[in-house]
Amino acid sequence: MSTEGDYDCIVIGAGVQGSFSAYELAKRGRRTLLLEQFVLPHSRGSSHGQTRIIRKAYDQDYYTVMMDESYRLWSQLEEEAGVKLYRQTGLLVMGPENGTYQVIKNTLQRNGVPMVILQPEEFSKHIPHVNLADGDVALVDITAGVLYADRALRAVQGQFQKLGGIITDGQKVTDIRPGDLVTVMTSGGVYRAKNLVVTAGCWTNTLLSYIGLQLPLQVLKINVYYWKEKDPGCYSLQNRFPCFLQIECPEAEHHIYGLPSNEYPGLMKVCYHMGSETKPDERDRQMDKSDGDILKRYLTRCFPGLVPEPAVVESCLYTVTPDEHFVLDCHPVHNNIVIGAGFSGHGFKFGPLIGKLLCELSLGEVPSYDLSPFRIRRFQEHSKSAL
Ligand SMILES: Cc1cc2nc3c(=O)[nH]c(=O)nc-3n(C[C@H](O)[C@H](O)[C@H](O)COP(=O)(O)OP(=O)(O)OC[C@H]3O[C@@H](n4cnc5c(N)ncnc54)[C@H](O)[C@@H]3O)c2cc1C
Repeated sequence: MSTEGDYDCIVIGAGVQGSFSAYELAKRGRRTLLLEQFVLPHSRGSSHGQTRIIRKAYDQDYYTVMMDESYRLWSQLEEEAGVKLYRQTGLLVMGPENGTYQVIKNTLQRNGVPMVILQPEEFSKHIPHVNLADGDVALVDITAGVLYADRALRAVQGQFQKLGGIITDGQKVTDIRPGDLVTVMTSGGVYRAKNLVVTAGCWTNTLLSYIGLQLPLQVLKINVYYWKEKDPGCYSLQNRFPCFLQIECPEAEHHIYGLPSNEYPGLMKVCYHMGSETKPDERDRQMDKSDGDILKRYLTRCFPGLVPEPAVVESCLYTVTPDEHFVLDCHPVHNNIVIGAGFSGHGFKFGPLIGKLLCELSLGEVPSYDLSPFRIRRFQEHSKSAL
């Protein structure tokens, strides 16, 4: 095994969060190595696929506020890389008036986010081919839209390399030795750096086990369903159909969300915001498709223009914390090791900002936002203390 060199910073994991962290560090002049276990690009983690929803509609003010800057950073990357990464579509939020819907509406109003409230009697004029459930109300978060996920990863990794950053893929990290200089062992070499950022998605706890820490993270396999339009294009991006979020409907305990048909013409992506537990290296041994039945019942009732049988099913992984808030923090003992984890199925849109925040933590700077909702110590009772 060879010693492959010394860096200012090593980032483990080239998903969206690690790629943006590495890019921010390189922008700040740090010699940075981005290590990835699989040959890039790959579809084994959480950041693959063509599309993700970007929105400001949240039930906590701090996410809505953070999204302001995240949108700006996305558009900066679009300009720098000369690619289009965001397409505005709006997000249709539907749900019973009292409950999460109202909380989201209040957050949008408090933060001055442009939105349209759709009166039930005019709903079908604005949103054809959707049946608003009895008792449900609806609004549109105008700022929301689609992020081109795969393209975004290529763009940020490309910009990182242009800044002199090094990506080493196909090398799995097999051990980490903390210290003033952190040593990282991989299947192909030994690397040292003053700072380490761990952004390993659903493999986070395997990496943290090398440095005496475990977090309460649950790995879920998410079935990514595409449904055929009966009338091709009726829910398409070209026909200005929005993304949607269905809250608290009778068919489902958790949210249902969808994106206009685009990446696979004639097929609309509609998924359940919940999955079944799996192991990251044995993802497809988890075969549970009961979410598909929930979606079939919901689509039959509310999206009559879709054939209620999935046409294509892909897979992706969520890494979920007990409160579904992220982990953005330093290791409790080794403060030159920074952890970004537990993005709980809603972290992609924050990628550029997460990169900036993990970079700030890594450089010992005061982070631009209050990170108390994202601290490790909130799990105190769950986590084994560091060795
Ligand atoms: C179906 C689905 C839909 C989603 N929809 C949305 C959405 O609409 N909007 C939104 O904002 N978010 C969404 N998300 C969430 C978002 O995609 C994730 O929060 C985000 O991709 C997490 O990125 P990550 O970098 O933390 O993890 P990953 O992308 O999994 O990256 C971690 C990387 O670390 C590497 N790694 C792990 N262990 C090692 C090791 N030992 N050595 C080297 N490398 C290692 C892995 O191979 C992987 O590449 C969705 C997620 C899924 C699954």
